[in-house]
Amino acid sequence: MAKEIETQGIVLYNRDYREKDKLVKLFTANAGKQMLFVKGANAPRYKNKAAIQSMSVSAFVLNINENGLSFIKSISETQRFRKIQGDIFLNAYATYLLGLIDAVLMDREVDQPLFIFLLQSLRLIEDGMDAEVVTFIFEVQLLSRFGVHIDFEYCAICGCDNPPFDFSWTHQGVLCRKEADKSFEMASLNPNVLYFLSLFTKVNLEKINKITLKSEMKHDIREFLDLLYDEYVGVHLKSKHFINHMNEWVNYPPLS
Ligand SMILES: [Zn+2]
Repeated sequence: MAKEIETQGIVLYNRDYREKDKLVKLFTANAGKQMLFVKGANAPRYKNKAAIQSMSVSAFVLNINENGLSFIKSISETQRFRKIQGDIFLNAYATYLLGLIDAVLMDREVDQPLFIFLLQSLRLIEDGMDAEVVTFIFEVQLLSRFGVHIDFEYCAICGCDNPPFDFSWTHQGVLCRKEADKSFEMASLNPNVLYFLSLFTKVNLEKINKITLKSEMKHDIREFLDLLYDEYVGVHLKSKHFINHMNEWVNYPPLS
């Protein structure tokens, strides 16, 4: 039995299906993640090509089938993140955010706050905010959706809020100096990394102002977030692998 749904949605990815058709994975505001069959999408005369590109946002009318294929009935009001799509670096970060969304959500699980959070994140990147910093905020705030709850503000043992903190893998949280001194398994982090993570946990993307971080600081945050994701989340995305390598090749000077 088909159900008709009107919703805003963002394309997570599309892939070829048979010769002339495509499957499009959407993250929608009202129906969660949905895989849609688009007949003739590979044909030259197919008119909604832009709207089914990854990262395009549109108003959709969908025919959702509980069993079997679901279809797009109509597409309107398509918006694209042109700056992101035209820039290999920004595109890599945005693709990673879409991949995380795909990894964290079950199909058809409705999560409107997450939908809005994704759109805000992409808009910030499109509007020129540092994509690396937006990605940090995204990853930190997504941790709880992965079932990982880390308090970066209070000591996991005594509950105090006296920085500098260090991170304890065993306690899955921060420890004050007094407690950290008794422990042998601290991450030995620059305390500023934890300060920024605690800030990123609380930041509201709607009200955010410019955040500027030095590249060494970003490097340290990146390294620690990668460890956190390895240890507690265990999601390894190709797009993330690409970002790591991309940052390596930027560091090689061009031939002169
Ligand atoms: Zn303490």
